[in-house]
Amino acid sequence: MPEPSTGPGEAAAPSPSALPAAAAPAVAVPSGPVQMPQLRIGNGYDIHRLVPGRALILGGQRLEHPGGLGLDGHSDADVLVHALMDALLGALSLGDIGRYFPPDDLRWKGADSLALLEQVVALVQQRGWTVVNVDAVVVAERPKLRPHIAAMRAAIAARLGIEEERVGVKATTNEGLGPTGREEGIACHAVVLLQQP
Ligand code: MG
Repeated sequence: MPEPSTGPGEAAAPSPSALPAAAAPAVAVPSGPVQMPQLRIGNGYDIHRLVPGRALILGGQRLEHPGGLGLDGHSDADVLVHALMDALLGALSLGDIGRYFPPDDLRWKGADSLALLEQVVALVQQRGWTVVNVDAVVVAERPKLRPHIAAMRAAIAARLGIEEERVGVKATTNEGLGPTGREEGIACHAVVLLQQP
């Protein structure tokens, strides 16, 4: 079947150069500056010595070390929660946890670090910021953290007031290298993202 030809009275399609400038689409353009959410990132690090005769608390969970070791410190020495607190404070340039919970203050002796985390979160929220997500990696040769990760994430998420899927907790060994590799201590690195709507 032949192509229909342009009949009399039907204009051929104009070449693109002959087209008038397209009208701007009807999009509402904000009159003032565009309001973007403000974001802040923070990072935290902590390490505590492994010693006999102390409990091993990570992410608020009590773990058993095969060598009978636990973390030494003024509070419960929960390096994971301490690194997170420093990341939260760092995101807003509020200093570090030593400023708020000094180790020479008897109030914090044996303190539950999750309770201290609640105080840091309150500080962040008072300034109008909310936590978008956090991510942490614990550096420990032993014990295996995998069976405890879910409980750690749940405990931290509850204190941060966010969903568990926004709380990353990972574990790695240090391949026998350095102080963590020799099991002289357990360390943790953490990052947080904050948002101000
Ligand atoms: Mg610490």
